[in-house]
Amino acid sequence: MLDRLTTIRHPVIVGVCVLGSAAALLAGFPILNVAVASVAAYLILRVGTMMLGGLARPVPEPPPPGELRKVKITYRCDICGAEVRMTVAPTEEPEPPRHCQEDMTLVTPVE
Ligand SMILES: [Zn+2]
Repeated sequence: MLDRLTTIRHPVIVGVCVLGSAAALLAGFPILNVAVASVAAYLILRVGTMMLGGLARPVPEPPPPGELRKVKITYRCDICGAEVRMTVAPTEEPEPPRHCQEDMTLVTPVE
């Protein structure tokens, strides 16, 4: 999937640079200036898309159902009072979920 994205991303950037260069040449700018600007634009766009790609982390696959454990844990949000029951978790002592930007506190202990 990542390979597909990079192969699509490249031609778009090259296309933008080529079209921009052609427009600049038609507008009468010197060819050396156009070449330098085109290379600079390509590098800036590549770095920009690489940084954006780094932010877009794919969500990890959940483990197969056989590895999940049935649990019965209740968590409570100390800030707003909401309660949540967790029924299935990857481990018997999973990380508490977050609510109101804070970790929720355990209400029922792990049996
Ligand atoms: Zn809350």
